[in-house]
Amino acid sequence: MAYKHIVVPEKGQPIKKKGKKLVIPNRPIIPVIEGDGIGRDIMKATRRVVDAAVEKTFKGRKKIEWMDVYAGEKAFELYKEWLPKETCDAIAKHFVALKGPLTTPVGGGFRSLNVSLRQILNLYACVRPVRYFKGVGSPVTHPEKMDVIIFRENTEDVYAGIEWKKGSKDVKKVITWLNKNMKLNIRKDSGIGVKPISVTGTKQLVRKAIQHAIDNKLPSVTLVHKGNIMKFTEGAFRDWGYELAKKEFRSKIVTEDELWDKYKGKMPKGKVLIKDRIADSMFQQILTRTDEYSVLATPNLNGDYLSDACAAQVGGLGMAAGANIGDYIGLFEATHGTAPKYADKDVINPSSVILSAVMMLNYMGWNKAGDMIVKAIETTLNKKTVTYDLHRQMKGAKKVGTAAFADHIIKNMR
Ligand code: NAP
Repeated sequence: MAYKHIVVPEKGQPIKKKGKKLVIPNRPIIPVIEGDGIGRDIMKATRRVVDAAVEKTFKGRKKIEWMDVYAGEKAFELYKEWLPKETCDAIAKHFVALKGPLTTPVGGGFRSLNVSLRQILNLYACVRPVRYFKGVGSPVTHPEKMDVIIFRENTEDVYAGIEWKKGSKDVKKVITWLNKNMKLNIRKDSGIGVKPISVTGTKQLVRKAIQHAIDNKLPSVTLVHKGNIMKFTEGAFRDWGYELAKKEFRSKIVTEDELWDKYKGKMPKGKVLIKDRIADSMFQQILTRTDEYSVLATPNLNGDYLSDACAAQVGGLGMAAGANIGDYIGLFEATHGTAPKYADKDVINPSSVILSAVMMLNYMGWNKAGDMIVKAIETTLNKKTVTYDLHRQMKGAKKVGTAAFADHIIKNMR
């Protein structure tokens, strides 16, 4: 495929799909979007850490061939477009990619490039593990109790981008139609947004969440929704989730009702408990009964809020990894944004993207390299060498910049 601005590394080979599996060559080409703002700092550090771990683990037998692809400010400089088609094509062709954060203007301007990428590539599950790293300061008494993985629906809900601005011709049409035909009384000075939640979107997300729990022998999957208020969207998310669990995983799951009706509250061995919580209750439960939760399956907006809140409980966004996964394509990126006030200052914590890259290595089956990075981060934190965000929560720690922190992780690889 001839690209306009993307340079394909000569020595690399693309990852291929064979049947239902990805085949990973020894020198896979991995597209990488550097990202805006702090993306420039953290992506440099991340590439160095990943390259060092792969080299130390596989002694030259395997190597990642990074291929820069463009979105956001860099894409606009090169293509006069924020999200060029060839970027999406390159990610789709190579299946596995790494991404830095991208700016989204608030209240106007263009729509989120992150949301567009997820929708164009049908990366329907945003997967965000949140765990505690020993030694990291936290605002709660028992941060070590947190070990959850959030599966957030990634393509619909209020993020579908169906909105009409107050006073526009379109919003007038929508309000007039609704007031007349649905006998509503919407104020004329309203903006309007639409919140679609489908059986398809819900089931493909919940299926991935339950399969993950089964594959990793995790105790429960909790469906998080605001179904008491939004009955036919969030309530339906819950109902379709249970429906799928009972239809496709019957012999492997027990619902919370069944737990009490059939098993007297004692969980049978080897099964996954499927439960649900109303979103507001979930936010207090994750603080007060943290270790009762494992996999959380959520519609788009709940998952976005919940992942930042969970990350805050274990030391902040600097440690919060993530991935956008479809049937085969995986686009790995941190939970946080571009944190513009820290851009190009060499201060920000790169762990979030480094840990996202660990998820990427695991997705490729290169777990040994991923494990080496996690252990090296643990050692670095134990030695109390940290970036500013962790430093402000840790007594007696030494503060280092982004690049130096990456150097310490590499030095601590065993
Ligand atoms: P943000 O970029 O996530 O930053 C908010 C705060 O979180 C920072 O000021 C910093 O807190 C902390 N933080 C974030 N990343 C950190 C890191 N690696 N290490 C340490 N601390 C970190 O949120 P925002 O300022 O609301 O959003 C900025 C832009 O990013 C917006 O345009 C938004 O749309 C976009 N965004 C993009 C993505 C994405 O690309 N996937 C995701 C979210 C937001 P302190 O100031 O307290 O140190």
